[in-house]
Amino acid sequence: MSVDFLPVYRPDLSGNEKLYVNQCLDTTWISSIGDFIDRFEAGFREITGAPYAWCVSNGTVALHLAIHCLDIGPGDEVIVPTFTYIASVNTIAQTGAKPVFVECRSSDWLIDIDDVEAKITPRTKAIMAVHLYGAVCDMPALSALAKSRGLHLIEDCAEALGSTYDGKHVGLFGDVGTFSFFGNKTVTTGEGYGIHGFD
Ligand SMILES: *Cc1c(COP(=O)(O)O)cnc(C)c1O
Repeated sequence: MSVDFLPVYRPDLSGNEKLYVNQCLDTTWISSIGDFIDRFEAGFREITGAPYAWCVSNGTVALHLAIHCLDIGPGDEVIVPTFTYIASVNTIAQTGAKPVFVECRSSDWLIDIDDVEAKITPRTKAIMAVHLYGAVCDMPALSALAKSRGLHLIEDCAEALGSTYDGKHVGLFGDVGTFSFFGNKTVTTGEGYGIHGFD
């Protein structure tokens, strides 16, 4: 019996992709800056409502930059769900901080807030919420918990461009949100820019 192969993702490049790549080549601005970066950042701010948004080289770099800019490093702990992409964890370790794993809920595979609360120690500096497969974590509860315990809240939104909670786009609940535009994400730019914004 033959079974059809079901791809996890298949980028749709049937729009203006070739036109824009060629326009970019014509300008010779193939790195650093160029028109498309400004247009992309402005478009991103418009669709998400983020007050600030910047492109970096990918979602992993965006996460590392976010953790670094929150002054998190050796001796600190960051709470992260067990079920996520490895970059969420690697970038915590990259700063010298310790990733502390918490369970995910069996109902939706997202971070379990009761376990987050149980794993907070005097060394905890931040909670990283990961919105998987477009599903959104319980942001009101996580925001309230982070606020009451004086912790930073980082949102890894790599898989959740376009996802909202009560009309508010993911990435706008915490101190910082990061996104990815890798080939298997909701919108792709190829290897992909990461975006993050501090409030
Ligand atoms: C894809 C992904 C990343 C990393 O993004 P890249 O642009 O591939 O570096 C981080 N976190 C999650 C949850 C992801 O799915």
